[in-house]
Amino acid sequence: MSGCTPSGPVCARCPAVLGSSCCEVREGERLATLTRADVARLTAHTGLAARRFVLEEVFSEEEAAGYEARRPLYRGYFRREPVRLALRTTREGACVFLVPGRGCGLPEEVRPVACRLYPFERWPDGSWSVSVGRYGDLAEAREGGEACLAVEEAEDMEAVLAAFGTSREEVEALGARLAEEARAHARG
Ligand code: SF4
Ligand code: SF4
Repeated sequence: MSGCTPSGPVCARCPAVLGSSCCEVREGERLATLTRADVARLTAHTGLAARRFVLEEVFSEEEAAGYEARRPLYRGYFRREPVRLALRTTREGACVFLVPGRGCGLPEEVRPVACRLYPFERWPDGSWSVSVGRYGDLAEAREGGEACLAVEEAEDMEAVLAAFGTSREEVEALGARLAEEARAHARG
C-alpha cells in the first residue's frame, strides 16, 4: 500500500467528512498527470481507448519548464513536447474511474502511479513531504476544497504514512518508479 487508497479507511471517509476527495476537482483544476506507461496499463486493463480517459493539455515552453522545476519526479516529462496528459473527468469534475460511494474502480496496481503516490511529494531540494497544506480545522478544510483528510487528521509526516499503512521506503520506491516512467514518457 502507498498513498491515496480510495477504498482504504481514511480515503473512504474523506468524501463524507470533507465533501469531496482528491479524485474530484473543481472547474479549472486537473487530476493526476499520466505517463505513457500509465496510459498503456489503463488501456490494457479497461479495454478503453486512451481518448476516453486522457485529457491533453498543451503548455507553453515556460509552463512546462516550471512544472518540471516544481515537481522533480517529472523531470524530462516534457522533453519531447509540452503536452501534459491528465485523467479525464466527468462534467461534475469526478475522475472517470471513480465509482460513486465506492472509490476508485481500478485495482491498486493498475492505478496511475501519481494517484498511488498522492499526497506524498518529492520537492526540488530532494526532501519528501505532503503536497497539500493542513488547515487544522475540518470546516475550513471543507471550505478550502483542496484538503486531504489523512493530512488533516495527522500530526506529522509519520502519522500520514501510518494512515496509509505505508513507509518512507515504499513511498520513495514509488517515487523512483514515477521518475523513471516520466523520463521514459518523453522517449515515446
Ligand atoms: S484527499 Fe487524502 S484522504 Fe482524501 S481520498 Fe485523497 S488521499 Fe485519501
Ligand atoms: S484513477 Fe482512481 S485513484 Fe486516480 S483519480 Fe481516478 S478514481 Fe482516483
